[in-house]
Formats: sequence, structure tokens, C-alpha cells
Amino acid sequence: MTVAGDRRDVVELICAKRDREPLGDEDIAWLLDAYVRGEVADEQMSALLMAILLNGLSARELAAWTAAMIESGERLDLSGLSQPTVDKHSTGGVGDKVSLILAPLVAACGAAVPQLSGRGLGHTGGTLDKLESIPGWRATLSNKEILDQLESVGCVICAAGSQLAPADRKLYALRDVTGTVESIPLIAASIMSKKIAEGTSGLVLDVKVGAGAFMKDLERARELASTMVRLGRDHGVRTVAVLTAMDVPLGLAAGNALEVAESLDVLSGKGPPDVVEVTLALASEMLELAGIEGADPAARLADGSAMRVYRDMIAAQGGDPDAPMPRASFVHAVTAERAGVIHRLDALDVGIAAWRLGAGRAHKEDPVSATAGVLLRAKPGDAVAVGQPILELHTEDDSSIPRALAALDGAIQVRDEPYAATPLVLDRVLE
Ligand code: URA
Repeated sequence: MTVAGDRRDVVELICAKRDREPLGDEDIAWLLDAYVRGEVADEQMSALLMAILLNGLSARELAAWTAAMIESGERLDLSGLSQPTVDKHSTGGVGDKVSLILAPLVAACGAAVPQLSGRGLGHTGGTLDKLESIPGWRATLSNKEILDQLESVGCVICAAGSQLAPADRKLYALRDVTGTVESIPLIAASIMSKKIAEGTSGLVLDVKVGAGAFMKDLERARELASTMVRLGRDHGVRTVAVLTAMDVPLGLAAGNALEVAESLDVLSGKGPPDVVEVTLALASEMLELAGIEGADPAARLADGSAMRVYRDMIAAQGGDPDAPMPRASFVHAVTAERAGVIHRLDALDVGIAAWRLGAGRAHKEDPVSATAGVLLRAKPGDAVAVGQPILELHTEDDSSIPRALAALDGAIQVRDEPYAATPLVLDRVLE
């Protein structure tokens, strides 16, 4: 066992993990606390993170690591709310605007949805960035405002405050620049520490799988899902994971204002069938975890009650739900080079194109464009003629278009054979 405060001990812990020896619970608690206080240097934490990426964390080490991340900040107390709380977290995909629809939909069915979110980094967009394209909408709320809005509206989507798992902020920024983001235990601890600290009683995880997702293959996605489900359960949060396909962008829009507009279509009882399917699958899981029986989320989309809650949620945070969404100054069409049936429309390439057009950021301080992004005019399974538009590139800066086009080189495959659709919801992980 190491002695707290002795800087040499950090080197011992790094060497232990390097040599595949277990780290003790107290060592982990001390290490993360000392790191947040600035007593452990970034270069030492970087070495330890790389040792963890290479050698993993045991279930016991991961439990201690996650608990220490939660302990690094405050934990919201939602126990006084009159409705059961349940939230959703997506590991991130291209065109994934489901949160914007799901939170009001599940609230319209009788649960309280506390969705404390982050901003996008890289090719997947962030929920807050999308909502910030609505004039006046405010992402930052006090804890009291969050509780009041959950009671009065039934849902809130806002920024996770700086006091929620602050260790994660520091560690995530370091992982981002040290090639250590991909470790399954570190991803699981990062996501679950924030969701557990948020105080929700139930949690549905949408683990995306495929070209446009963090997890490219089903086996790694299952491993991440069951690691997170166990962590949730061990901390008293009822947790289920759903694995959903992310080879093709979800819906027809990738980009901030473009995705808000598409969400409004779905809330109006229309919208692309794949967005509706994923939203309803996640809504059913959330309602089951919240213990709400007999609710019919499809009917709540169709009868406008989810839209009413959405409008209340936007207005409660200063947004104008009737304001016209901003539109891009430049639109460039990408057309079919040959006739046939679309077989592939690569989600990662579309995500990178949207990012280069201005929809995403390279550094966490960078601004994002509300209007930039990619609209899909056709999807896999659709027949196209030569010259028919497949994509529309939207941007405020037309000099970004060639770089977006370069990202899309090889992204679209048109063939003569018929296309066989594959399932969107791939699996459900309970353990
Ligand atoms: N999202 C997170 O919040 N953390 C990770 O480590 C990866 C994705």
C-alpha cells in the first residue's frame, strides 16, 4: 500500500500497472484525488493511462476508479422529484439527434428525464451544439433550475456543470492528446461517472456500432455495453444497453440546425423511419426502467404531446421554439456518378465532411457553425440516376467545400444489384 502525498508512489503505481499488478482501492482513490488537485503531473497520469490502455483494469479496479471519479465532484440529488427519473446516453454517432426527441417524448409519457450533456468533439455532433442553433437557447443552468424544470416540464437537456465528475474533464482532455481514448474501462468509467453523478435512477445506453461509431465491431461494443451496465448496477442505477447500427448516418441530416429541423419533423409525427425506430426502441427501454406501464410512445409522437413538451423545454431555457432555423449561405450538391442502387454511404466520411464544413470542432474551445452540415437526399437502398443529388453540403465558408468533398471520396457506393437492408437495433445488453 502506498502513502498518500508521496510523489514517488505515483511511479510505483505506474510500474505496477505496467507489470500487470493490481492497483489497490485506496491507491486509486488517492491518485485521482491528487491528480485533480494538481499534485500528480500530466506526464505521470499519461503514462498510467497508456499502461491501462495496454493492460486493462480488473472489475474491482474499474469500480474503484469510477467511484473516485464520482467522488471528485458533487452528486445531484433528484430523489425529491415527483416522477421517476430515467436518462439516455449515446456513445455518439453521425446524425444522432435522438436525445432532442427522446427526452420530451419520455417526459410526455410520465417520467422525468435529466439529460446532462456535453459538446461534440471530432466527427460526432454534441447535443448542446445542436440545441444552441435555436435562437436564445441557454445550455447552462443552476442545479435549482434543473430541478425546477424537471418538476415543471418533465425534462431538461443542459450542460453538465463543472462540478460533476471534474476528474473526467481533466482525464478526458489528457486521453484525447495521448492516444488513450479507446480503452474500454476508461470509456466506461468516463461515461458512467458522469451519469451516476447526475443522479438518475435509470439509464439506457445507446451503444453505437459501425463505421461512424467509436466501436467499430460488435464484440467490442458488447464488451463496452456490459462493462457500463455492471458499473451502473453496482452504483444502484438500473441500466440497460441497446446496441444500434452506425454504418450509415441516422436520418437525413448531420449538422446542428439541420438536425434540429429533422427532430421537429419527427416530433410532428413524421421524419425518417430510422430515427423514429431508434427513438421508439430507446423510449420503450426507458419507460420500462422507470416502471411506467401502458404508455404508448408512438401515440405520444403522433398526437403532438411530445412536441408540446419539447416546446416547453426549449422555452424554459430561453429558446424561441417558433424562431426560423438559420440556413447556410452556401449549398453544394454531390451527385451520382452512375445509375444504380446505393449500397454504402459511409457515416464516418459524412461526419468528417460535416465537421470540415464547420459543424464540429477540432479543439474543445472552438466555435461551431449552426448552419453547416450534410443533408442526405438518398440513402442505401434508394435507386439513383446519373447526376441525381445524393448529398447537399451546407456551409458558411465555401472554401471548406473542397476539403469536405475530399472526406467523401469513396464514401458512396452505387451498384447494380438490389440492396439487402440490415437491422438497426442489433442487440440488448442487460448484464
Ligand atoms: N464519451 C465520454 O464521455 N467519455 C469517453 O471516454 C468516450 C466517450
